[in-house]
Formats: sequence, structure tokens, C-alpha cells
Amino acid sequence: MARIVFKFGGTSVSDVAHVRRVATRVVKAFRAGDEAAVVVSAMAGTTDQLDHWTREIGGMMDAREYDTVVAAGEQITAGLMALALQSEGLMARSWLGWQLPIETDDAHARARIRHIHAAEIEDRLARREIPVLAGFQGIASTGRITTLGRGGSDTSAVAIAAALNADRCDIYTDVEGVFTADPRIVPSARRIERIAYEEMVELASLGARVLETRAVEMAMRNGVSVQVRSSFHDTPGTLLVDEDEIMEQDVVTGVTYSRDEAKLTLTGVHDKPGVSASIFGPLAAEGVNVDMIVQSGSHGGERINYTFTVVERDMERAVRAIEDARNEIGFDSIVADANVAKVSIVGLGMRTRPGVAQTMFATLAERGINLQVISTSELKISVLIDETATEEAVRALHAAYGLDSA
Ligand code: ADP
Ligand code: ASP
Ligand code: MG
Repeated sequence: MARIVFKFGGTSVSDVAHVRRVATRVVKAFRAGDEAAVVVSAMAGTTDQLDHWTREIGGMMDAREYDTVVAAGEQITAGLMALALQSEGLMARSWLGWQLPIETDDAHARARIRHIHAAEIEDRLARREIPVLAGFQGIASTGRITTLGRGGSDTSAVAIAAALNADRCDIYTDVEGVFTADPRIVPSARRIERIAYEEMVELASLGARVLETRAVEMAMRNGVSVQVRSSFHDTPGTLLVDEDEIMEQDVVTGVTYSRDEAKLTLTGVHDKPGVSASIFGPLAAEGVNVDMIVQSGSHGGERINYTFTVVERDMERAVRAIEDARNEIGFDSIVADANVAKVSIVGLGMRTRPGVAQTMFATLAERGINLQVISTSELKISVLIDETATEEAVRALHAAYGLDSA
């Protein structure tokens, strides 16, 4: 007998027929003697719609009310899932974040889970009931509903698996697992059987949205055994494992991309000690996260240029923060460009094999793709390129590192 947390994403519960269909997976495991707890997302598109309405109504964007609205989608699917399980003759009950409760901090729209009170759930499991939990939501110390940030129901599922000391957390989605690249843009991508937590953290944070970054970090910290599987096909999925459980490491495990990038170029900056702090200090104060940074053009001269990237939605705010600090920084111009994408290769095997970067640069050069910024770490190399070349670059790199399926 195993204790399993089943998490179903938006496309897996996109309408009543889908809810019924995926519920049969839970029924099967339960009838085989397993203990099951279910975590659901909102129906595909619902959270987007709710989010859109909060913008449409205008006025002050009050994060507390934003959360009140966007948390609503999961309430519907939790109830429907409980009804679907009941109609199969099982005892099932839905639970919203505030009912357990799932305590979070007060950072509305991007709250972090502080503590899950799992006693009630434990009790229900012991009575052979199936608890169905609304993902993505919790309750702040103020008593108000919070949400964890878009894609956050993966984090809900892993946190619940950790709190219940579950044997497995199975994330059911619309692909058969984690692939060597997004299968939607690289048809020759292959499913990865086992991937190290560390690699998955990198892939997720560099754009592969199949798992949320925070969920992977939490699974790694708490030793939660996570599996990504298809809701629609009975195929093996991808297992997240410790690095030493992978026998033979490929050089590159996956290629990923993010279009959610913007590039800022600051020209004619006075080259003096402390100038970097004068640029990035105001950005930090505004809560703008800076990712890639290059500084160029000082051949003993007095003027230099800075190029750096931020997520696209922070672009305007970043430009304003820099303009406001113009006197302290001292520069000629600032230019913002949202037509860029970050393409990355990830793999633990890169640590021990030289020449990995060269293959990346040569492959892109052959196609006339210009590299605007480069950044590297032990596990990844990222390049910033023109957004229109994104898919071509991802496919070319996928082939160049021998990842294409035969
Ligand atoms: P869910 O609604 O189930 O949470 P998501 O849309 O959040 O599903 O994540 C699944 C999607 O992630 C897939 O449909 C796929 O297009 C995308 N994706 C991006 N990169 C990868 C990858 N490397 N492997 C698998 N899927 C990926
Ligand atoms: N429904 C939420 C969203 O669309 C949470 C999730 O699906 O993970 O972001
Ligand atoms: Mg998701």
C-alpha cells in the first residue's frame, strides 16, 4: 500500500468529462489499496479569465482582492472532483486552503506556504476517505485568501505530499513527462526517464513550464518523490531523482527557452567605482529582478555600456527607476527592447565535458543567429537572441547535442 498525492493540471480537468476521466486513475489506485489525496488546478483557461477580469475592472490593483478572484477556479474543480469520486461510490470531500488550513505569508499573489495543518487529512485518509484539495491557494495570518503565483498548484501538491509524508507525488499533465525540449515546438524531443532535481530546477526556472520552479525546489529540500505523467495515456513518465541515481549522464539534458525577457541597454555610463551599485540599487529597491548582465566598452576610456535583462512585465518600471536615478548614475541613453528571448541548455554532464559552449555558439553562428548576451553557470549556458529566432535556435541546439529521437 502506498500513500499517493495526485495532482491534476488545468488541461486534465478542462471540463466535466475530463474530471470524470482523470478521477478513474484515483479510483483505480484506491481500489488497489493505496491511500489517495488529490490536488486540483482550475479548469484550463479559467485562471487566465479571472486574472483578465481583475485588470478589466480597472482601478487600484489591490492584491488582496486579486487573490479573492483568482483563487475561485480551484474551488470549482475541487468540488467537481469530489463529486466525480463520490459517483464512483467512494467517500470523497473537498478542502479549500482556508479550511485545512494551508497557512501562507501575507505576500498576496505570490505567497509562500508556511505550514500545512494536515491532521484533518490524516484522519480522513485513515477512514478510507479521499481528500480533494484546491491547489494554488492558502490563508494569510490576516485571515484572507492568498494565492501562490501562477502555476502554483504544483507547489501545493508537493507541499501536501511533504506534510503527509506521502510515498509519491504524481503530477498529471497534458504531456507524457519532462522532455528534452518543449514537445510543442520540438517534435523530435524525447521523454526523459529520470532527471536530477538540480537539473529540473534549472529547466523550470529557465522556461520549461511543465513543473513550477518552487515545487521542484521544495521537492528537493524535502526529499519528495515526484513523477510527471500523462493524464491521458498510460505511459511511464519522468521521475525526479538525486544526481547519484543517474547512471550515465548526457552532456546536455535539455534545451529550453523563455520569451518573457526584455533587454535594457544603458550607454555612455561614467566609469567609476560604485557605478554598478548606482544602477542596480534603484532596480532592487523597485523589486525588479535583474538576470543577465554585461558591461562593455572600457578600453581605458571613461564611458562604458551596460546591457542587462529583466522579465518583460518589469521593463517599464526598470526604465523609470533608471531615469529617476539619472543624476546619480550619469549616462547618455537607455534603450529597452522586448523582442528578445533567452535560450538555454541544461545538464549536469556539462561540468566535466569541455567544448559544450563552443558547440552552442557555433550552432547558432551557422544560422546567423546573433548572441546579444551570454551567461553561464555549472549546470547551464544561456544566450539572449532575437525573439523571432527562438524556435529555430531551440531545434538546432536540440539536434546539435544529439537529443533528437531517432
Ligand atoms: P498543467 O496545466 O498540467 O500544469 P502546464 O501547461 O503548466 O500544464 O505544463 C505542461 C506544458 O509544459 C506542456 O503542454 C508543454 O508544452 C510545456 N513544456 C515546456 N517545456 C517542456 C518540457 N521540457 N517537457 C515537457 N513539457 C514542456
Ligand atoms: N490555476 C492556477 C494557474 O493557472 C494554478 C495552476 O494551475 O497551477 O496559474
Ligand atoms: Mg502547470
